[in-house]
Amino acid sequence: MPLQYNLENYHKPEDIGQAIDLLSKLGNTAQVIAGGTDILPRRQSGAKSNTLTHLIDISGLGLNYIRKNADKICIGAATDINCLAISPVFRSSPYTVLAEAANVHSTHTIRNRATIGGNLCNASPCADLALPLLALSAAVVVAGSKGKHTIQLDSFFKGPNCTALLPNEILQEIVIPIQQETSSASFLKLRHHQTAIDMAVVNVATLLFLKKNNCLSAKIALGSVGPTSFLAKKAAAILSGQTLNKKLIQQAARISADESAPIDDNRATASYRKEMVAVLVENSLEKSWQRSRE
Ligand SMILES: Cc1cc2nc3c(=O)[nH]c(=O)nc-3n(C[C@H](O)[C@H](O)[C@H](O)COP(=O)(O)OP(=O)(O)OC[C@H]3O[C@@H](n4cnc5c(N)ncnc54)[C@H](O)[C@@H]3O)c2cc1C
Repeated sequence: MPLQYNLENYHKPEDIGQAIDLLSKLGNTAQVIAGGTDILPRRQSGAKSNTLTHLIDISGLGLNYIRKNADKICIGAATDINCLAISPVFRSSPYTVLAEAANVHSTHTIRNRATIGGNLCNASPCADLALPLLALSAAVVVAGSKGKHTIQLDSFFKGPNCTALLPNEILQEIVIPIQQETSSASFLKLRHHQTAIDMAVVNVATLLFLKKNNCLSAKIALGSVGPTSFLAKKAAAILSGQTLNKKLIQQAARISADESAPIDDNRATASYRKEMVAVLVENSLEKSWQRSRE
């Protein structure tokens, strides 16, 4: 089926102000395009509303960067997934968790186009990069006609394909606070056929802040098992302030499964997904713990 956009309706603004002006002017007939790996296949399948006739390409806004300073790591929203996979910034613990997720996102070819901002703004419950970012307590900087504001990532996802972004707002930057030195993290993804283009059946990221074996705090992020990616807060709470051991990890894994609310779909049944949450969370917590001892 042919695409329903034509070149007259393709806009390539040169700065973020121009992009916001266009979005404000064109209203619900316009949509941001970054890598296009979500919206173009969806558009071709006829899934999007026909009121959308304008594409606003954000690849020329200078939003492709990764910067680290003493307090935070800032990632421009148009940074492609391959850049995250190979960046030296994500080679040290616990930030390796982001590279780990980037490395199992789709294929090299798609990763060269797909952006981190698109992965978050598409708000798929199985988006891979959402999970390490939730575990790392990331926030997003949003720019709109009234200026910029920051939203914690765990308040950003509102439902499948639905975020806290207003229609004329653009996700500009993702900010990861510098973590405690003795933190460690890991990401795991279960796929149906375990091929590169399979989306996750269940995906999980965990982060532990440990002093020796004492767990001072923990984060458990779950994907593909609810309407949005989310933090399993009850499960993480039972680890905090405790001496870590296998039994406690298994308990946290079971509570994570209880906190999940998966559905049956063509990739897996809800009950299988729940079982797999427990398995993946246990394995991921074990891996994060192991990394803290390396
Ligand atoms: C074959 C295939 C395999 C895939 N495999 C995976 C996978 O393994 N894991 C995974 O997580 N995803 C996967 N995806 C989905 C997709 O590649 C990712 O979600 C990707 O990160 C989307 O980024 P993009 O730049 O292409 O987004 P786009 O398609 O350009 O945009 C997606 C949505 O976000 C909006 N948007 C984009 N950037 C911004 C911004 N800065 N501000 C406001 N709105 C914005 C767009 O308007 C649109 O609604 C796959 C897709 C394909 C086609």
